[in-house]
Amino acid sequence: MNTQVSPALTANPWVHIDEQDWNSHVWQLKNSIKDYKSLAALMELTSDERQGVLETGGKLAMAITPYFFNLIDKENIHCPIRKQVIPRIQETQYSAEELTDPCGEDGDMPVPGLVHRYPDRVLFLVTDRCASYCRYCTRSRVVSGVGQQKLELQWEQAFKYLEEHTEVRDVLLSGGDPLLLSDAKLLKILHRLQDIEHIEFIRIGSRIPIFLPQRITAEFAQELKKIQPLFISIHANHPKELTSEVKQGLDRLVEAGVVLGNQSVLLKGVNDDATIQKELIHSLLKFRVRPYYLYQCDLIEGSKHFRVDMLKGMDIMQELRGHTTGYAVPNYVVDGPGGGGKILINPSYFLGETDTHYQLKNYENKVYEYPKI
Ligand SMILES: *Cc1c(COP(=O)(O)O)cnc(C)c1O
Ligand code: SF4
Repeated sequence: MNTQVSPALTANPWVHIDEQDWNSHVWQLKNSIKDYKSLAALMELTSDERQGVLETGGKLAMAITPYFFNLIDKENIHCPIRKQVIPRIQETQYSAEELTDPCGEDGDMPVPGLVHRYPDRVLFLVTDRCASYCRYCTRSRVVSGVGQQKLELQWEQAFKYLEEHTEVRDVLLSGGDPLLLSDAKLLKILHRLQDIEHIEFIRIGSRIPIFLPQRITAEFAQELKKIQPLFISIHANHPKELTSEVKQGLDRLVEAGVVLGNQSVLLKGVNDDATIQKELIHSLLKFRVRPYYLYQCDLIEGSKHFRVDMLKGMDIMQELRGHTTGYAVPNYVVDGPGGGGKILINPSYFLGETDTHYQLKNYENKVYEYPKI
């Protein structure tokens, strides 16, 4: 690894920034780090990173909000925050098992942007942009505007489909990041969905509370009170992401009656460790967020350096279940490659059966029997 000091390295340019600017999501977005020159001026990059930043631009854009960038430990090339948002050259190295559309979403779209795979619920992709880009993003084929596909947005067509399909009771807004839309645009979608009688459950998947907590303004939270029930799944992978700024944003959501969950991705060198997972889920509970899913990393192109063997994932789960608060334990899932949908891969505590009993093991691997009826 080349860790030579870049001659252009400058001190943190945000030290003297006006607090009001720093706390404004508009300022944060406007000042996001999006190219090699700005990034290299702020920190020393390894050669893998330097090449990564220069060579992945046509696949998934780089963007890092100043707020999130400041969480990076610049002295540590293994920093878990750094690995999530700074491209590495490994992203350009594709393996045979990898897929452009690893979850097979494109095949399940009756209307552009609307994925209807399960009987009673749909995934509604409302934008292709995010506040920052996760280098392992399962939708990198469409997000950030530079990849292989363009995400077609046909909101009216989607609303029409939803109005006609009375079996749909649950709509999940995703993207991209729906909270990147303006208050007005997002609220319009939410109210429109709420007005459809058979839709009883609306949820949003968003990493904005983590990448850009400043976006959760008091006014925005106030407006969300009118949408009920509303669940928001945030996306935190490491306890370092749960800062006081994040807490303030999440408190506003909770106080607006929003129910919070967390989805995280199991990532090599970021959170593939039971101690880190425990810290993460404990911190989430303290922030009133219920851990929902832990995802096995999808077979996205150039993701090998992030993927963790599934058995290791199960071992981590085994160190959580029973060893800590049940509320804190997420479900470990994998999206069946090519369109299988979510498959639960929690470790099994069911061992088998005898003529008269079922055999079970507890979290300490002690065996117990329960009689058949
Ligand atoms: C994940 C997902 C959902 C929601 O699944 P839940 O298990 O209900 O959270 C819905 N549609 C698609 C296509 C999905 O990938
Ligand atoms: S926030 Fe979500 S959609 Fe956006 S890059 Fe990250 S994983 Fe992908």
